[in-house]
Amino acid sequence: MSNELHILAGLIVTPDDVLENHVIVIKNEQIAKLYPLERNHNKINLDLSDFVIYPGLINAHDHLLGSYFPRVGDRKPYLNWKPWDDDLKNSPIYAERGKNENIDLYYLGSYRNLLSGALTVSDHIPHFINDPFIPLMPIRVLKEYSLAHEVSNFDLKWGDGVEIEYQKAVKNNEPFITHIEEGFDEESMKGIDYLLDMKALGEHTVLIHGIALSDEDIYHMAKHKANLVWCPFSNFYMFQRTARVKELIDAGVNVSIGTDSPMSGSLNILEEMKFAKKVYRDMYKQEISDDILIKMVTSHPAKALRLESELGSISEGKKGDFIAIRYKSNNPYSPLIEAELENISLIFYKGKPLYGDYEFNDIFKKFKMQTSNFLLNKIRKVISGPNPVNLLQKIQDAVGYPKDIPFLPVS
Ligand SMILES: [Zn+2]
Repeated sequence: MSNELHILAGLIVTPDDVLENHVIVIKNEQIAKLYPLERNHNKINLDLSDFVIYPGLINAHDHLLGSYFPRVGDRKPYLNWKPWDDDLKNSPIYAERGKNENIDLYYLGSYRNLLSGALTVSDHIPHFINDPFIPLMPIRVLKEYSLAHEVSNFDLKWGDGVEIEYQKAVKNNEPFITHIEEGFDEESMKGIDYLLDMKALGEHTVLIHGIALSDEDIYHMAKHKANLVWCPFSNFYMFQRTARVKELIDAGVNVSIGTDSPMSGSLNILEEMKFAKKVYRDMYKQEISDDILIKMVTSHPAKALRLESELGSISEGKKGDFIAIRYKSNNPYSPLIEAELENISLIFYKGKPLYGDYEFNDIFKKFKMQTSNFLLNKIRKVISGPNPVNLLQKIQDAVGYPKDIPFLPVS
C-alpha cells in the first residue's frame, strides 16, 4: 500500500456542510485532500459509500479518574456540587472504586469515550494526576490547559488560583477550564461576577455547567466570548435542572456538550446527545436543530479547547479522525444522533483504523496493526491495541466480583 489511503464516503457531515460521494485522502495522520468522486476513479482503498462520515467526536467535559459506576447521591436535588461531592466520598461505591489502580480508571474512561466515537476528551483534573497517563491512552486526552475547580471559597483549590491560571491560558493560547455556577447558594450564583472581578472572563475561558446563570451572566459571557460546556444529564441527575441553553445559544455563546463523570453523568456522549435533545424539547417546546447538536460535539468544542486548527471538522489539513455510521434515511444527522454503541461501524484516529466492525478487519491488516477482537453487545468488533475485555477482567479481579460496567459492554 502506498502511504496514501483513498476513502470513498457516501455522505460526510463536515459539520458545516453535508457532502455527497466525496473521496477523503489520508496521508501522514492527516486529511490531505477532499474532493468529489470522479468517474472511473480507480484508486479507492476503502469503500464507505453506504456510510455517513463525521469528525471524531470531542467530549468537552469528563473526569477520567472518576470513571466508575453506578451513579451516587441520594439527597437529590442538591443545593450545589459540594454536598454531592461529600456523599460521593462517603459512599461504598467510592471505596470500591478506590480498589482499582488510577491508571485502570483512566483506561476505563478512555474506552468509555472511544467506544462511543469520542476520540478527544477534556479531562478536568489537575496536571500532576493525569500527566503520566495521557501518553498511554488509546485516545487523545487534552494536555494543554489551565484550570480551577470552581470559583468559590469552598472549591477544591485546583491549580494556582483563578487569576494566575487564566493568565497562563492567554499566554500559552490554551483553554482555562473551570466549573461555574454549579449550584444555587449565594456564592455559586456569583461565579461570573467573580470572574469579571478577576479579569478572567474571555475567549480562553471554558465554563462547565452554569446551571444558575442569570440573563446578566449570559450577556457578559457572550460579550467576552467565553465558552460554555453543557452537561444536561449530570445536571438533571444532581439538580433536576440544567443551564438555559437556548438563551446561551441565542446570545451567541459557543456551547459544547460534555458527559461529566459517569458517577453523575450519562453513560457516554451518544446518550448525552439524546438526553440533550430531549431536555431542549421539554424546556422550550421546540426541537434543537440537528446540525447544532452535532457541532456541539465537534467544531464547537474544538474551538473552545483551542484545537480548531487540527480537529473538529472533516477538511483538508485536519487530523485524520473520523467515525463512520451506516445510514438508514436521507437525514445525514440522524444516524449519529440516534446511534447506539453498536452502530459505530468504523473509527479512524490520526489517519489509522482504531476500532470497528469485524467486516473491516482487512483495513487493519493493510496497516499491519496489532489487533484484538471482542463482542460488544454480541456484535464482533476489532480494535487496534490491547483488548478492553482484559481491562474489564482486571477491574473485576480488583473488586472481587463479576462487576458489570454498562459503558463497557464487552465480552
Ligand atoms: Zn465536572
